[in-house]
Amino acid sequence: MEIAIIGSGYVGLVAGACFAEHGNDVICVDKDASKIDALLKGVMPIYEPGLSDLITRNVKKERLSFTTSLKDAVEKSSIIFIAVGTPQDEDGAADLTHVLDVARGIGTYMNGPKIVVDKSTVPVGTAAKVKHLISTLTSHPVELVSNPEFLKEGAAIDDFLKPDRVVVGVESEHAGHVMKELYAPFVRTNNPILVMDVVSAEMTKYAANAMLAVRVSFMNEISNLCERVGADVNQVRIGIGTDARIGMPFLFPGIGYGGSCFPKDVQALIRTGKDYDVDLKISVATEEANKRQKRVMTEKLVNFFGAEGLKGKTIAVWGLAFKPNTDDTREAPALVVCSDLVEYGATIRAYDPEAAQTFKARFGNAPKLSYTATNYEALEGADALVICTEWGEFRNPSFKKMKELMKSPVIFDGRNIFDPKEMKELGFVYNSIGRPAVA
Ligand code: NAD
Repeated sequence: MEIAIIGSGYVGLVAGACFAEHGNDVICVDKDASKIDALLKGVMPIYEPGLSDLITRNVKKERLSFTTSLKDAVEKSSIIFIAVGTPQDEDGAADLTHVLDVARGIGTYMNGPKIVVDKSTVPVGTAAKVKHLISTLTSHPVELVSNPEFLKEGAAIDDFLKPDRVVVGVESEHAGHVMKELYAPFVRTNNPILVMDVVSAEMTKYAANAMLAVRVSFMNEISNLCERVGADVNQVRIGIGTDARIGMPFLFPGIGYGGSCFPKDVQALIRTGKDYDVDLKISVATEEANKRQKRVMTEKLVNFFGAEGLKGKTIAVWGLAFKPNTDDTREAPALVVCSDLVEYGATIRAYDPEAAQTFKARFGNAPKLSYTATNYEALEGADALVICTEWGEFRNPSFKKMKELMKSPVIFDGRNIFDPKEMKELGFVYNSIGRPAVA
């Protein structure tokens, strides 16, 4: 099939590369010329494990190309995916500027019948808006499909190639048939392609993200209570997760969810609720709990050093990305932790294997925040270490080396990557989430 993907970010690039991998001819478009320039030179604009190899292979086979020309891509394709960003606007609603810009472009350049697929996360009713806009600009027939994406950054290729399910919202049997054919190679183990109406597909994406966010926030609250009552949240997690009605995934407590999806999607769902006069109390509480959780590390540091005591302390920070295996720092808890520490007058030595550049661009210049080349370098002269992201390389460090480098062996672990008992034996002061502190 001839496919255009508009928006070559985390979702667009992965989708484009994976469709090409299964033999389709794919043109990825972006309005950001520097991104397209980099891709044409074989340089990846984002970090996503496995993406570079997949793109290189499919470019070589001439199944995958990149352009800034929407016109070219629309004219050459029969299926057009919209995968542009839908950030949050000031009211919490999804900002549809990019989606509607693309719709206008598609309408202008249509040269025959097309299927337009909305892959961006968009509120209920957006597909209808996009279709209406395109139809006012062209007499060629357009079929609108909602195909929300569920990939996780850091495991995006695997998620896309082997999805749990594919959700497709259609308004015609023909579009449903084409989408089933397109996705057939991705569901060879019989994972379902769920064909439904467009509005239900749009709603499914928000309901899924809000449900996952609820689990995270709920466990974070339980972890805070565990600390007070002297329980171990890890044991509680296993205790409840083994109940088949609850299940194990998404029960790890931490320092709040971040990323480009959960925070903005929960907000957008709340906003949709307001628009339709439905009070989504659980989503509102989830969001509030998450905002509070991002400050838990700061509270622990203040309790330990005192507000005044933090002034002039050197704090090492491991992990800046919102989660491991990505360079994405949108809404990352580390942004809040570092901003709080700067506010208290601490000096920060930060390390992340992939996200230092994107973090720096987002956080801006702070004279007391420097970035180190290794995790150990960050520890030099540190009064404490704060762990914000659970990168694999942090899990088995040389504790001996850590103790030698640090001024005092104090760790605040926002991701529970070490065992408190072991840390005590090794002589660390160790604070984690929802488990008793040890010293
Ligand atoms: P992104 O910001 O990484 O990429 C979006 C790209 O679209 C950018 O490169 C931008 O330059 C480009 N763009 C914007 N306007 C354009 C236009 N008019 N023409 C051409 N290109 C244009 O965003 P993302 O993380 O890939 O997310 C895209 C959508 O997918 C969002 O709606 C998001 O909510 C959803 N989503 C994201 C994820 C994720 O993990 N990142 C997962 C599922 C769904």
